[in-house]
Amino acid sequence: MWTGRTEGDLAMAPHRAVPEATVGRLAGLAGRPVSWLHQVHGDGVVVVPAGDPEHGRGENGDALVTSSGTALAVMTADCAPVALASSEGVVGAVHAGWRGLVAGVVQAAVAAMHRLGAGRVEAALGPCIHAECYAFGAAELDLVAARLGAGVRSELPGGGPALDLPAAVGAALEKAGAELVHDVDECTACAGDRYFSHRARGERERQAMVVWKA
Ligand SMILES: [Zn+2]
Repeated sequence: MWTGRTEGDLAMAPHRAVPEATVGRLAGLAGRPVSWLHQVHGDGVVVVPAGDPEHGRGENGDALVTSSGTALAVMTADCAPVALASSEGVVGAVHAGWRGLVAGVVQAAVAAMHRLGAGRVEAALGPCIHAECYAFGAAELDLVAARLGAGVRSELPGGGPALDLPAAVGAALEKAGAELVHDVDECTACAGDRYFSHRARGERERQAMVVWKA
Protein backbone atom coordinates (compact mmCIF):
# COMPACT_ATOMS: atom_id res chain seq x y z
CA MET A 1 0.00 0.00 0.00
CA TRP A 2 1.01 3.60 -0.52
CA THR A 3 -0.02 6.28 1.91
CA GLY A 4 -0.68 9.95 1.22
CA ARG A 5 -1.66 13.06 3.14
CA THR A 6 -4.69 11.28 4.56
CA GLU A 7 -2.48 8.96 6.62
CA GLY A 8 -0.26 11.81 7.78
CA ASP A 9 3.49 12.20 8.07
CA LEU A 10 5.35 8.89 8.08
CA ALA A 11 8.86 10.32 7.90
CA MET A 12 11.57 8.30 9.59
CA ALA A 13 13.74 9.29 12.54
CA PRO A 14 15.43 11.59 13.33
CA HIS A 15 12.97 14.00 11.73
CA ARG A 16 10.34 12.45 13.97
CA ALA A 17 9.74 9.45 16.18
CA VAL A 18 10.54 6.02 14.83
CA PRO A 19 7.80 5.25 12.35
CA GLU A 20 6.89 1.90 13.85
CA ALA A 21 4.01 3.34 15.81
CA THR A 22 2.57 5.29 12.91
CA VAL A 23 3.21 2.65 10.27
CA GLY A 24 1.89 -0.05 12.60
CA ARG A 25 -1.43 1.77 12.83
CA LEU A 26 -2.09 1.44 9.12
CA ALA A 27 -4.98 -0.80 8.15
CA GLY A 28 -4.06 -4.42 7.80
CA LEU A 29 -0.85 -4.22 9.79
CA ALA A 30 -2.16 -4.83 13.30
CA GLY A 31 0.42 -6.72 15.30
CA ARG A 32 2.69 -7.35 12.33
CA PRO A 33 6.40 -6.57 12.74
CA VAL A 34 7.58 -3.67 10.60
CA SER A 35 11.06 -2.88 9.33
CA TRP A 36 12.38 0.28 7.71
CA LEU A 37 15.75 1.77 6.86
CA HIS A 38 17.80 4.89 7.20
CA GLN A 39 17.63 5.69 3.49
CA VAL A 40 20.86 6.90 1.96
CA HIS A 41 20.25 6.91 -1.83
CA GLY A 42 22.59 3.98 -2.43
CA ASP A 43 22.21 0.38 -3.56
CA GLY A 44 22.19 -1.29 -0.14
CA VAL A 45 19.71 -4.14 0.35
CA VAL A 46 18.79 -5.42 3.81
CA VAL A 47 17.33 -8.92 4.13
CA VAL A 48 14.89 -9.46 6.98
CA PRO A 49 15.28 -13.12 7.96
CA ALA A 50 12.32 -15.18 9.15
CA GLY A 51 13.95 -15.74 12.53
CA ASP A 52 14.54 -12.05 13.23
CA PRO A 53 11.36 -10.23 12.21
CA GLU A 54 12.50 -6.82 13.39
CA HIS A 55 15.85 -6.96 11.65
CA GLY A 56 16.93 -3.96 9.67
CA ARG A 57 15.23 -1.19 11.61
CA GLY A 58 17.10 1.99 11.05
CA GLU A 59 20.07 0.41 9.25
CA ASN A 60 21.54 2.24 6.28
CA GLY A 61 20.07 1.03 3.00
CA ASP A 62 17.46 1.66 0.32
CA ALA A 63 15.81 -1.72 -0.20
CA LEU A 64 14.33 -4.31 2.11
CA VAL A 65 13.51 -7.89 1.08
CA THR A 66 12.04 -10.78 3.02
CA SER A 67 10.24 -14.08 2.77
CA SER A 68 8.89 -13.61 6.30
CA GLY A 69 5.70 -11.90 7.43
CA THR A 70 7.46 -8.66 8.34
CA ALA A 71 6.00 -5.56 6.70
CA LEU A 72 8.62 -3.54 4.82
CA ALA A 73 8.33 0.25 4.80
CA VAL A 74 10.10 2.89 2.73
CA MET A 75 9.42 6.61 3.07
CA THR A 76 9.28 8.95 0.10
CA ALA A 77 8.24 12.42 -0.96
CA ASP A 78 9.30 12.48 -4.63
CA CYS A 79 11.55 9.43 -4.98
CA ALA A 80 9.97 6.31 -6.43
CA PRO A 81 8.57 3.68 -4.05
CA VAL A 82 8.78 0.33 -5.83
CA ALA A 83 7.01 -2.77 -4.46
CA LEU A 84 8.32 -6.17 -5.50
CA ALA A 85 6.67 -9.57 -5.12
CA SER A 86 6.97 -13.10 -6.38
CA SER A 87 4.55 -16.02 -6.24
CA GLU A 88 7.06 -17.85 -4.02
CA GLY A 89 6.20 -15.41 -1.23
CA VAL A 90 9.28 -13.22 -1.40
CA VAL A 91 8.58 -9.48 -1.23
CA GLY A 92 10.64 -6.33 -1.47
CA ALA A 93 10.38 -2.57 -0.99
CA VAL A 94 12.70 -0.17 -2.78
CA HIS A 95 13.34 3.54 -2.25
CA ALA A 96 14.46 4.57 -5.72
CA GLY A 97 15.72 8.08 -6.32
CA TRP A 98 17.98 8.90 -9.21
CA ARG A 99 21.18 8.21 -7.29
CA GLY A 100 19.93 4.84 -6.13
CA LEU A 101 18.79 3.98 -9.65
CA VAL A 102 22.24 4.85 -11.03
CA ALA A 103 23.81 2.77 -8.24
CA GLY A 104 21.60 -0.19 -9.22
CA VAL A 105 19.35 -0.50 -6.18
CA VAL A 106 16.47 -2.04 -8.11
CA GLN A 107 18.67 -4.75 -9.64
CA ALA A 108 20.28 -5.42 -6.26
CA ALA A 109 16.88 -5.86 -4.61
CA VAL A 110 15.62 -8.24 -7.31
CA ALA A 111 18.86 -10.26 -7.08
CA ALA A 112 18.45 -10.52 -3.31
CA MET A 113 14.89 -11.79 -3.81
CA HIS A 114 16.13 -14.50 -6.18
CA ARG A 115 18.62 -15.57 -3.52
CA LEU A 116 15.64 -15.99 -1.15
CA GLY A 117 13.94 -18.28 -3.64
CA ALA A 118 11.91 -15.89 -5.78
CA GLY A 119 11.25 -16.90 -9.36
CA ARG A 120 9.61 -14.29 -11.54
CA VAL A 121 9.49 -10.91 -9.80
CA GLU A 122 6.64 -8.48 -10.42
CA ALA A 123 6.77 -4.81 -9.54
CA ALA A 124 4.39 -1.96 -8.77
CA LEU A 125 5.33 1.71 -8.84
CA GLY A 126 3.78 4.16 -6.40
CA PRO A 127 3.41 7.96 -6.44
CA CYS A 128 6.62 9.79 -7.35
CA ILE A 129 7.66 12.93 -9.14
CA HIS A 130 6.99 12.78 -12.87
CA ALA A 131 8.96 14.21 -15.74
CA GLU A 132 6.86 17.36 -16.25
CA CYS A 133 7.82 18.50 -12.74
CA TYR A 134 11.35 17.17 -12.43
CA ALA A 135 13.84 19.79 -13.62
CA PHE A 136 17.17 18.05 -13.85
CA GLY A 137 20.76 19.00 -14.52
CA ALA A 138 22.08 18.09 -17.96
CA ALA A 139 25.21 16.43 -16.54
CA GLU A 140 23.21 14.34 -14.06
CA LEU A 141 20.78 13.42 -16.82
CA ASP A 142 23.71 12.13 -18.89
CA LEU A 143 24.72 9.96 -15.93
CA VAL A 144 21.27 8.41 -15.58
CA ALA A 145 20.93 7.92 -19.35
CA ALA A 146 24.34 6.22 -19.53
CA ARG A 147 23.13 3.73 -16.96
CA LEU A 148 19.47 3.29 -17.91
CA GLY A 149 19.09 4.42 -21.51
CA ALA A 150 17.88 7.46 -23.43
CA GLY A 151 14.27 6.77 -22.41
CA VAL A 152 14.93 8.56 -19.11
CA ARG A 153 15.46 11.88 -20.90
CA SER A 154 12.54 14.26 -20.90
CA GLU A 155 11.80 17.98 -21.09
CA LEU A 156 9.92 20.41 -18.92
CA PRO A 157 6.76 21.92 -20.46
CA GLY A 158 8.61 25.26 -20.64
CA GLY A 159 11.81 23.69 -21.96
CA GLY A 160 14.88 22.46 -20.14
CA PRO A 161 16.05 19.00 -19.22
CA ALA A 162 13.89 16.77 -17.05
CA LEU A 163 14.26 13.28 -15.68
CA ASP A 164 11.51 10.77 -16.39
CA LEU A 165 11.76 8.91 -13.09
CA PRO A 166 9.04 6.33 -13.87
CA ALA A 167 10.88 5.52 -17.13
CA ALA A 168 14.12 5.13 -15.17
CA VAL A 169 12.41 2.72 -12.77
CA GLY A 170 10.99 0.78 -15.74
CA ALA A 171 14.43 0.53 -17.33
CA ALA A 172 16.00 -0.65 -14.07
CA LEU A 173 13.30 -3.30 -13.66
CA GLU A 174 13.91 -4.48 -17.21
CA LYS A 175 17.63 -4.79 -16.50
CA ALA A 176 16.76 -6.76 -13.39
CA GLY A 177 14.51 -9.12 -15.36
CA ALA A 178 11.47 -8.02 -13.39
CA GLU A 179 8.16 -6.87 -14.80
CA LEU A 180 6.26 -3.69 -13.97
CA VAL A 181 2.66 -4.85 -13.65
CA HIS A 182 1.13 -1.79 -11.96
CA ASP A 183 1.81 1.95 -11.92
CA VAL A 184 -0.39 4.21 -9.79
CA ASP A 185 0.64 6.95 -12.25
CA GLU A 186 0.44 9.84 -9.80
CA CYS A 187 2.88 12.74 -9.64
CA THR A 188 3.71 13.83 -6.08
CA ALA A 189 4.42 17.36 -7.29
CA CYS A 190 1.19 17.75 -9.30
CA ALA A 191 -1.12 16.02 -6.81
CA GLY A 192 -0.45 18.42 -3.93
CA ASP A 193 -3.84 17.70 -2.41
CA ARG A 194 -2.94 14.05 -1.92
CA TYR A 195 0.84 13.75 -1.55
CA PHE A 196 3.83 15.38 0.10
CA SER A 197 6.51 16.71 -2.24
CA HIS A 198 9.92 17.92 -1.20
CA ARG A 199 10.84 19.35 -4.59
CA ALA A 200 7.54 21.08 -5.36
CA ARG A 201 6.64 22.40 -1.92
CA GLY A 202 9.71 21.90 0.25
CA GLU A 203 7.76 19.61 2.55
CA ARG A 204 9.60 17.56 5.15
CA GLU A 205 6.75 15.12 5.64
CA ARG A 206 6.89 11.75 3.92
CA GLN A 207 4.41 9.22 2.70
CA ALA A 208 5.15 5.55 3.15
CA MET A 209 4.97 2.48 0.99
CA VAL A 210 4.41 -0.64 3.01
CA VAL A 211 4.81 -4.08 1.47
CA TRP A 212 3.97 -7.35 3.18
CA LYS A 213 3.26 -10.93 2.36
CA ALA A 214 -0.49 -11.52 2.69
ZN1 LIG B 1 3.87 16.60 -11.97
